[in-house]
Amino acid sequence: MALDELDRFGEKIIEGFQLSDDDLRALLSLESEEDLEKLYYAARKVRNHYFGNRVFLNCFIYFSTYCKNQCAFCYYNCKNEINRYRLTKDEIKDTCETLKGAGFHMIDLTMGEDPYYYEDPERFVELVQIVKEELKLPIMISPGVMDNATLLKAREKGANFFALYQETYDTELYRKLRVGQSFDGRVNARRFAKEQGYCIEDGILTGVGNDITSTIQSLRGMKTNDPDMVRVMTFLPQEGTPLSEFREISNLSELKIISILRLMFPKCLIPASLDLEGIDGMVHRLNAGANIVTSILPSDSRLEGVANYDRDLEERDRDIKSVIRRLESMGMEPAQQDEFEAVLGC
Ligand code: SF4
Repeated sequence: MALDELDRFGEKIIEGFQLSDDDLRALLSLESEEDLEKLYYAARKVRNHYFGNRVFLNCFIYFSTYCKNQCAFCYYNCKNEINRYRLTKDEIKDTCETLKGAGFHMIDLTMGEDPYYYEDPERFVELVQIVKEELKLPIMISPGVMDNATLLKAREKGANFFALYQETYDTELYRKLRVGQSFDGRVNARRFAKEQGYCIEDGILTGVGNDITSTIQSLRGMKTNDPDMVRVMTFLPQEGTPLSEFREISNLSELKIISILRLMFPKCLIPASLDLEGIDGMVHRLNAGANIVTSILPSDSRLEGVANYDRDLEERDRDIKSVIRRLESMGMEPAQQDEFEAVLGC
C-alpha cells in the first residue's frame, strides 16, 4: 500500500477492503506527522460512516481492587502493598443512585480477581442483579477469568458485555506480563462468553516491549475472537510493580493503533479512555477513530481507574458532564440509548 493511498483509504475500507499483514506493517511503520494525520483522517472517515458524530459513554465502577494475580504491569497485583477497597452492596446501591439519569449508555463493573468473589461467585452474580435492577442499563462485566457457570448466571441476571484483555497475543511477552496465568484460559473464557450471547471486549497494551511483528500478532489474535469492542492502551509504569522502571521509546503509539483498529474493525466499539490523559487525551483518541468514552467515573468519586494518571491529583476531570461539554465543543454528541442497544443487539 503506497502512502499516497492513505487519504482515500477510508473509502476502500468501507467498501470491504481487508488489510493484509503488509498493509499493517506499513501502517505501523508510519512516523511523520503528515502521514499520521492522514491515517487518523481515514479512521475518522470510517468511524463517521458507521456512527456519524455519535459517541457512547461508559461508566466505570471499580468495585474491588483486591486481586490474587501478579500481572507485572498492574498496580493492583497482589504483591503490591497498596491501600485496597471492596465496595459493600450498600455502597454499590448508593453509587447507582448517583448514576440515575446521568446519561451513561453502559455500566462497567470491574474488579481484580478478588478471592472474596472467586470463593463465592454468587456474590458477584448478586451484584450484577442489583446494578441491573437499580439502573436498567446494559452492563459490562470485567471480573477476570470467571468460571463458565458464573458467566452464564451473570448473563441471566442482565450482564451484556464481557471484557477480558489478552494484553498481547505474543505468547512470550504474555508470560512476562500476565505472570503465571493461562493464555488459553483467557481465550476460552472470551469464546465461551461470546457463544452465550455476550458482546465481548478484547484489548492489548503498547509500549511494553511489543515490536511491529508482535503487534501484528496481537491485532490478528484479537480478530480471531470476533470482538465487539477492541482496545489498545499505552503501558504506564506503576509504582511498586516489577515493571515500575520499564521505559520504552516506542513509535507504536496508542493513537496510531486506534486508527488501525478502526480500519481493521470498522463497526466495532473502540474506546477513548480517560485513564491515561484525561479529557484532553479523549479528544486525541476520538480524533484517531475511537467512538466510546471509557473510564468515566461517577461524579465526585474517589473510586480507582486502572492506569490512573490522576491518582495523586486533587481535582479529577473524569465526570460525564465534563465529557459531554468537550464532545459538544468537538461537534460530537452522546448517542441515544437505543442506538447503543442496536450496537449491542440487545
Ligand atoms: S491486571 Fe487484573 S488480574 Fe492482573 S493483577 Fe491487575 S487486577 Fe489482577
